[in-house]
Amino acid sequence: MTIEQVPHWVQPSHPEFINIKTYKEGSFSKYATASNPIPSNTIIGDFSAATPASEKAYSSVQVSETDHIELNSDLLYANHSCNPNVVFDTDKGEVRSVRNIQEGEPITFNYLSTEWDMAQAFKCECGSDNCLGEIQGARYVPTKALASQFINSHIRRLQDKRDSAAGKA
Ligand SMILES: [Zn+2]
Repeated sequence: MTIEQVPHWVQPSHPEFINIKTYKEGSFSKYATASNPIPSNTIIGDFSAATPASEKAYSSVQVSETDHIELNSDLLYANHSCNPNVVFDTDKGEVRSVRNIQEGEPITFNYLSTEWDMAQAFKCECGSDNCLGEIQGARYVPTKALASQFINSHIRRLQDKRDSAAGKA
């Protein structure tokens, strides 16, 4: 997913961990990389700058079965990966690494761990063995396809509701 939004927060917001890069010269499409080596299980940010989103958008993050937030920080530039190196833990309100991250490595999280039904679908090109391809929200993915991943509790509840309704629970 590409981000083409002029930031309205002071940058850099997380200089100890995040360095923003641009895909190509003159492009507005940016992505977050590690500004330093980040050990596994390090908290790299929180949602303290976030504000409620009136409706879901390409930039919003889902934090409950019904609510979405705008991050208002460089965490916005964390791209999706099906095999991510950080998690957005909306229950704890923190973003943390789930493995060692090299300096310069793109910082990624699994959008399906927060988003049930996304405003904009996109084709994932993360290249992982478990890449799901078209990413449009956890709603469109079988529960077992995400079983080995970190998934927030609101997504688990929505999976349970869907699976119960389908008689598969
Ligand atoms: Zn992928």
